[in-house]
Amino acid sequence: MRRLVGEDKGGEVIDFTDQVAIVSGAGRGLGRHYALDLARRGASVVVNDLGCAMDGEGADRSIADQVVDEIRSTGGTAVASYESVESPEGGQAIVQTALDNFGRVDCVVSNAGIWGMAPFDEITPEQWQRMINTHLNGGFYLSQPAFKVMKNQGYGRFVFISSSGGAFGIYPSTHYAAAKAGILGLTNNVAIEGARYGILANAVLPFAITRMATATGEPEEGSLLALSRPELVAALTVYLASRACTSSHQNFSSLAGRYARVFIGVADGWISEPGSTPTADDILAQLEKVSATAPFSIPGSIVEEMDVVA
Ligand code: NAD
Repeated sequence: MRRLVGEDKGGEVIDFTDQVAIVSGAGRGLGRHYALDLARRGASVVVNDLGCAMDGEGADRSIADQVVDEIRSTGGTAVASYESVESPEGGQAIVQTALDNFGRVDCVVSNAGIWGMAPFDEITPEQWQRMINTHLNGGFYLSQPAFKVMKNQGYGRFVFISSSGGAFGIYPSTHYAAAKAGILGLTNNVAIEGARYGILANAVLPFAITRMATATGEPEEGSLLALSRPELVAALTVYLASRACTSSHQNFSSLAGRYARVFIGVADGWISEPGSTPTADDILAQLEKVSATAPFSIPGSIVEEMDVVA
């Protein structure tokens, strides 16, 4: 039976009754909104948050506890997890919390993240490693044990939180951009390998006015960033985490109420004479065709790119 808790907004079909969700970084910002809406729609939620500062330092259990209290106060079901996603043991423990308390894992929103800025030539190896470790390694450490559970169940949904900074670039945070771009690769392969087990994986590239977005200063009133309320992203993330979602291997941007597919495609390009060995001068001569972005296709794997050319 459908179990909508908290405010009933009417006409809702996205429903998580009897399902179990894990949201990492769910104590603040975007993750909190994902957890609240999943719980409101009937999911039992593991609210994971280390409760650290934006640079990853420190820990505070009350951050996850507050969201668990908020969910329970409206009749929802949630349990806190204070582990860091930064180690295989941490990821395993988060999944185990779901299994111990609720017996299964239906969807994982891999959202925990940190932020830092430094010009490319000043990023230290420690800053680089910490950023990659939280975002990319953390995504792997959490999703791998969850994947094993979903594979046995024959059902699962992953929503990996990436960033337009990863897809397109962001100044000055090369380590953040690289980590977030890596998450797109992680999403692609979880989708490819999960397909035969009923597991779907998609990525969300959010914009939201959280402490991360205001780190460099408050946005101007009425600006796109100021209009990017976290609830607007939650709509997309919660859909992708649901039974109703049928897409996989896709990336979506959410910006101030604009929802749009972000994709990596390959253009038809310039096909050199079969058997010939083009030179750098030929590339220069054909640059217009080599650089054109249309027509294009979106291969579902490296093999599909070869099929397009064959
Ligand atoms: P936020 O700082 O408000 O929330 C992030 C949460 O993650 C914090 O509560 C923090 O304690 C937790 N966290 C950090 N490291 C952790 C770890 N190792 N283990 C467990 N929890 C950890 O930030 P936010 O804006 O809500 O960002 C959420 C996600 O969205 C991040 O992955 C971020 O990179 C991504 N993102 C945000 C924006 C934006 O505009 N806000 C844009 C692009 C991407």
